[in-house]
Amino acid sequence: MTKDIIKELEGAQTPLYYYDLPLLRETLSVAKSAADRFGYHIHYAIKANNNPRILREVSAKGFGADCVSGLEIERSIAEGFNPSDIVFAGVGKTDREILIGLENQIMSFNVESVQELEVIGELANKHQLKGRIALRINPNVDAKTHHYITTGLDENKFGIMKHELSKCIEIINANEYLELIGLHFHVGSQITDLNVFKSLCLKVNEWNEWFYERGHDVPVLNLGGGLGINYSEPDEEAIVNFSNFFYLFHEFLTVRSHQQIHFELGRSIIANCGTLVSRVLYIKEGIKKNFAILDAGMTELLRPALYQAYHKVELLSDKHTEESDTKEEVKYDVVGPICESSDCFGKDVLLPRLKRGDLIAVRSAGAYGEVMSSRYNLRQELEYFFKE
Ligand SMILES: *Cc1c(COP(=O)(O)O)cnc(C)c1O
Repeated sequence: MTKDIIKELEGAQTPLYYYDLPLLRETLSVAKSAADRFGYHIHYAIKANNNPRILREVSAKGFGADCVSGLEIERSIAEGFNPSDIVFAGVGKTDREILIGLENQIMSFNVESVQELEVIGELANKHQLKGRIALRINPNVDAKTHHYITTGLDENKFGIMKHELSKCIEIINANEYLELIGLHFHVGSQITDLNVFKSLCLKVNEWNEWFYERGHDVPVLNLGGGLGINYSEPDEEAIVNFSNFFYLFHEFLTVRSHQQIHFELGRSIIANCGTLVSRVLYIKEGIKKNFAILDAGMTELLRPALYQAYHKVELLSDKHTEESDTKEEVKYDVVGPICESSDCFGKDVLLPRLKRGDLIAVRSAGAYGEVMSSRYNLRQELEYFFKE
């Protein structure tokens, strides 16, 4: 952040979400050209950040959308995404949400159970609207990430069981309004070990073959998302290496010439473009610990409390460095104001000696930050600052 932006933030109401739009545009360009090289398609995972201003930037760059609710479909269309580039996932789609997908003639329903497929079939029939289907297959690949964001193992609730696939094909074949367009996979989130994606490719190859042998030459393979970012060094690696990621699929996927490859990326697009900006309310010097109590907490950024996620915490105020004569650093438990012990952004964080009113940045908060904010404790509305 530049000095003049920090100066502007000094006068702003906190907590606020700061979004770096030039960095977002650059990230989108880098991701898109890396994907274009192999003719791959990217759907931005709306659930990572559905701020309308962000969505307009993403849709303007020609990305598709990956939605997990009817309202996400409606919002993404309102913010410029083309319905024919929208995919719709989720284990619990309601009838109303399915109808939104059908009426907008979205690219595909990523179907997660036999029963869901039956309901989509009934509604498609009733309204005489075509439902394009991608079957979500659980690849049983370990994402080697936090177990709350692992989705591709047999014990997870996501995807269709292997023994139900024949039944799914029967249902689709028997309904003139249903069309099988593809296979869908997603193994989890914040995956930093690219070997996980290699294992995914090998599983996808097997399934692609399995369907082909049964007469289904599906046009679409959707590999999901999950590419992780570097939370420790948000400045050194502001944009993840999309080229390596896509190259790996190019290397290990066996694709028939007409097959399209799709991805659903959320975190890797938006995480580093957002920062939660907060103020130090109080310093509490304890016997064993020092606490820096912020005006932002788990109600603004839930990830640390929900999955013990790490976010880099930094001091922003530069008037601080001008005024203070020592370079002394102190360890703080940086905590929020909410009445929960899990409301903690970091333990033993080494920071310059803080004082009331200092501005604090919680970095890489662009993905799964604002969207998970809540009114618990009847918190005030979030504020925003968009760097243009
Ligand atoms: C959450 C999710 C994504 C996006 O995951 P990221 O880790 O943010 O890239 C993609 N596809 C599905 C089905 C998801 O549930």
